[in-house]
Amino acid sequence: MMETLERRLRGMPISPGIVIATVKVEVAGSTAPGIYSIRRCEKQAEWDRLEKALCRTEVELNELKARVEHMSGADEAAIFDAHLLFLRDRSIMSKLHVEFDARMQNMEAVYYAVVQNFMELMRRVEDAYLRSRVADMEDVLRRVLKNMAGEHHECPSSRDKQPHILAAYDLSPSSTADLNRDLVRGFVTEAGSTVSHTAILARSLGLPAIVGIEQLTIEVKAGQEVIIDGYEGLFILNPSPETKEEYLNLRAEKEKAYKALALMRDLPAETTDGRHIRVATNVEFAHEYSNITASGAEGVGLYRTEFFLLNDGNMPNEEEQYVHYKDLVEACAPEEVIFRSLDAGGDKLPFERDVKEDNPFLGWRGIRVSLSRPEIFKDQLRAILRASAHGKAGVMFPMISGYTEVIRVKKLLQDCRDELNERGQAYDPNLRVGVMIEVPSAAMMADVLAPHVDFFSIGTNDLTQYTIAVDRVNRRVADMFRPAHPGVIRLIDQTIRAGIPTAICGETGSDLNLVPLLIGLGATELSVGVHVVPLIRYAIRHLNYEECREMAQLALKAQDSSAIKKLSREIAIKSYPNLFH
Ligand code: PEP
Ligand code: MG
Repeated sequence: MMETLERRLRGMPISPGIVIATVKVEVAGSTAPGIYSIRRCEKQAEWDRLEKALCRTEVELNELKARVEHMSGADEAAIFDAHLLFLRDRSIMSKLHVEFDARMQNMEAVYYAVVQNFMELMRRVEDAYLRSRVADMEDVLRRVLKNMAGEHHECPSSRDKQPHILAAYDLSPSSTADLNRDLVRGFVTEAGSTVSHTAILARSLGLPAIVGIEQLTIEVKAGQEVIIDGYEGLFILNPSPETKEEYLNLRAEKEKAYKALALMRDLPAETTDGRHIRVATNVEFAHEYSNITASGAEGVGLYRTEFFLLNDGNMPNEEEQYVHYKDLVEACAPEEVIFRSLDAGGDKLPFERDVKEDNPFLGWRGIRVSLSRPEIFKDQLRAILRASAHGKAGVMFPMISGYTEVIRVKKLLQDCRDELNERGQAYDPNLRVGVMIEVPSAAMMADVLAPHVDFFSIGTNDLTQYTIAVDRVNRRVADMFRPAHPGVIRLIDQTIRAGIPTAICGETGSDLNLVPLLIGLGATELSVGVHVVPLIRYAIRHLNYEECREMAQLALKAQDSSAIKKLSREIAIKSYPNLFH
């Protein structure tokens, strides 16, 4: 029997919301097969199907082994011995018998669950050699499932097409972007961190999600009913009827509170002493357009164009980009849309798929890619310029590290304007040009860069990672990722003191605890996920700028991040206590 007792697992909440559904489990590279119950009389047929698939896989592996032996010799071919051993492994087979009798589900679903558990156990062993054999096991699993697929007597896909929660060891930003929004209602992973692009995408898609759940893939069983509490980071397996009721009520309460805030969206985002802060939104996907105005956002402060550009491996040409950008500009008019030029690399897709780097965050990323591919970069710049003729647009550049890059980028932008003049195509001559401040050297050079651009936009996700040398996607150092670290705060201060309009477009801008600090340091704009806009606008309306400014001066003298957070949080709790319930 599948376990039915309620269990609670904890992780890091990365995207708020509550969702109750059955869970589907996915292992890197192989999708979990559909699950359906079988009758007692079908048991033998299921074993026969498995046996056939095992035999076929055995033949395939032996053929492969012979071919490799012929081409490269016996040593190389020996790697398939491990595959063959896994295929008939006695402990896997005996666990399979037990689980199959207990679950009474189709064989591929049970086989998948059992092998997946073994793989997770192997990932945890000390012996590096054994750990490295997980890949072999995964290969065997994939082959057996493929061979069983040809033997279906019932197509499980209809059962697979139910709304569900996805549980996986890890999800890359690209697979998150590809999730079927009609079916996937939320996700949980064992790896992951709060400022990874996977997390940013989850928030942008409005999918409740939790990452960093220890032992997740061992504990969770496909087909179980589960709850994601994306506020607290709680993942509840087999919730009791009382727990379900409690969460249904909580969800209704949260939705009511959110709607009440959204209704106030037309009130100005102005502090109690009259300082206006532009609250714009970050956009990752085309289908968010309609949410933007509904949220009360004053335009788009950061459009992460890479999710559109690198979507299917075929970079859209200038014309295709122009049409897409124009639609967004028109949808947001008269508010401004800031396009960030392509920021490939890092934890997102590399610009060229076969490029593998040991340290992708320090490698061929952001503006470095664009400057080394000027023709492709110029396609994007011309498309943005042309879109600017249809409303209000701006452009900014990621991963700028100093003066020379700014000058090179501006020269290319001017070339694009000249080309459009020659073609007789319109653009807005007043299009604002900015740079992202997310590399510490750029923050230190802010006074030198400021005369050359119209605005700065601080990417706190990268600025934090690069300043304190903490990988933003590495779970092992997640507790060291401190956006309120004095080093980071001083760089933000230094940037703002350069005296040009400065936005915060990283995740720190949506941290209700730190909003008073950012306002006090003098940020003129916060650009946040679309679902957070009403909260941030409300928070600003309840803050006093002078009070925040005085607090920020104290914060700049503080010694550690907790002291800084405490100073800012005190004002936050006093000013908008209801947002913390
Ligand atoms: C940032 O680094 O804070 C930022 C906004 O850019 P991204 O998260 O896309 O790297
Ligand atoms: Mg960044």
